[in-house]
Amino acid sequence: MNRNASLHRLRSEDFDICIIGGGATGAGCALDAATRGFRTALIEQDDFAAATSGTSTKLVHGGVRYLEQAFKNFDHRQLSLVRKALHERRTLLQIAPHLVHPLALLTPCFDLFEGLYYTIGLKLYDLLAGSRRIKPSEWLSKEETLNRFPAFDGHRLHSAVLYYDGQFDDVRLNLALVQTAAAHGAAVANHLRAEQFDAAPNGQLNAVTVRDRLTGEVFVIRAKVFINATGTNADTLRRVAQANQRPRMQASKGAHVVLPANAIAQGEAALLVPKTKDGRVLFAIPWRGHWLIGTTDTPADPYETPYLQPDEADYLLEHVNKFLKEPVTLGQVTGGFAGLRPLLQPDQNATLQKTETRNVVRDHEVEVDPQSKLVSIMGGKWTTYRLMAEETIDTCGQLLGQALPCRTETIPLIGSEAFTESFGNTFTRKESNLPGKVAAHLVDTYGVRAEALATLCAAEPELTEGLVDAHPFIRAEVVYAVREEMAQTMPDMLLRRIRLGLVDWLATLEVLPVVADLMARELGWTAAEKQQEESRFRAHMEEVIGQAGLSAPTEINKA
Ligand SMILES: Cc1cc2nc3c(=O)[nH]c(=O)nc-3n(C[C@H](O)[C@H](O)[C@H](O)COP(=O)(O)OP(=O)(O)OC[C@H]3O[C@@H](n4cnc5c(N)ncnc54)[C@H](O)[C@@H]3O)c2cc1C
Repeated sequence: MNRNASLHRLRSEDFDICIIGGGATGAGCALDAATRGFRTALIEQDDFAAATSGTSTKLVHGGVRYLEQAFKNFDHRQLSLVRKALHERRTLLQIAPHLVHPLALLTPCFDLFEGLYYTIGLKLYDLLAGSRRIKPSEWLSKEETLNRFPAFDGHRLHSAVLYYDGQFDDVRLNLALVQTAAAHGAAVANHLRAEQFDAAPNGQLNAVTVRDRLTGEVFVIRAKVFINATGTNADTLRRVAQANQRPRMQASKGAHVVLPANAIAQGEAALLVPKTKDGRVLFAIPWRGHWLIGTTDTPADPYETPYLQPDEADYLLEHVNKFLKEPVTLGQVTGGFAGLRPLLQPDQNATLQKTETRNVVRDHEVEVDPQSKLVSIMGGKWTTYRLMAEETIDTCGQLLGQALPCRTETIPLIGSEAFTESFGNTFTRKESNLPGKVAAHLVDTYGVRAEALATLCAAEPELTEGLVDAHPFIRAEVVYAVREEMAQTMPDMLLRRIRLGLVDWLATLEVLPVVADLMARELGWTAAEKQQEESRFRAHMEEVIGQAGLSAPTEINKA
């Protein structure tokens, strides 16, 4: 993906559909629209997946907790949402097999009744998935549970129910959606903010004024239909298009802490507690060589910048420790992150109580403003992005008078074209100059595109060098991210393309100079520009660390 070429297209072409917002929802819409044959534009004010879509728990799931709520409240809408999400889970395992994997999860039970309750619930979960089930759930004895999750405190444990969901890398999937959309003809650009709409005399939008946040340039993109896929910020554009709109969005903050792999004895499963004593879902999930502990669920301002806070870190560690033989401590934390869930208020007339966010159905809605014809897609969750995109582009097709069929259920995403289970082994054998751990990491991250990284390494052997000890990232990834994945800034690189900034804060500070050098070379930064980028990102990381209450880097454990 070349940003300058995209900008040229965005300035000069007429589009059928222009999508604003490059998170999971907007990127999914761009892929759906482009593959139906619509002339498609996608713009993102920051970077792809820079907001909520890069800070999820990284589960592709139907939602066990939502299933429970569906039965408790006789809520068929909730039940249908779980079924649809389970359907999407299988689709994602098929269209992006290098990024989405089955994950075994254990739900601990502390008496016979709990064991029965969760076994029945998870059998229903299997049943709802039908032929799209990953593997059947099982009720395990205490001994079997401890074998699979040796870190459990076996004291009070009665048994556990083992079940399966999907796990993924959210930013990499978001990028794969954008890249696949671009490969199907969409013009896509990050760091481009939609600021103002123009409308025809009948009130229907026909252009958007955008600002390039890297250069300050302002220009106009022309399209027949505009999609507002701006997540928690959706009300802003709804009001730019039509000033008197009633707000629909609400946000809930979710935080995670990251621990190194050795902080919790590795077994064969993740831990999921569907309901803690205070009614929240708690996860301890192995992810890319670390443990993610999450998550909180507290009402938030949709426009705030979410950071992991000390009380959230304390809360998560305190609750996960209730299930562990050996407690984890703040001193073991290597990273963390927080995001805002885009929650849709149930209907136009209802105003939710501020305390109720954990009970809001994670459903979505496609709204068409009667006058401006702005199409807003609001709410939802990562797992159902494809479904949300399908409904949104169906609506756009109606507005455009062109009912073209959706094709995304069977289109493999970039990196998954011709990907087979044996690709990893073949690649590792062929690229014998790369350490096995690095080769495996490249396959998990780029799928068949790992070949392109190997080609870069062959042309310039210094690029095989690792970025930092104890992590599999190599220099070639920085070059690839600039050339092929539109990385423009240091946060684009180290928070998203290379996910060090999430999992290991200290290592992130350590690699800054070498990453800045490589980016400067690729992007043609002057010495002053490089210096500015580096200091700006260092300040950002220090803010993240400071907000978490770990003011000096020495307080953070290095993975
Ligand atoms: C803590 C947490 C855990 C979660 N875990 C899971 C999970 O495990 N599984 C799951 O399925 N879901 C999960 N979710 C939900 C899921 O992450 C979100 O539903 C999804 O990512 C929302 O995507 P989005 O594209 O709608 O919003 P966003 O990702 O926020 O994207 C909106 C984009 O619009 C851009 N934008 C805003 N205004 C403008 C403008 N004027 N011009 C251009 N661009 C603009 C923003 O910069 C942003 O990138 C979780 C959410 C949170 C917060």
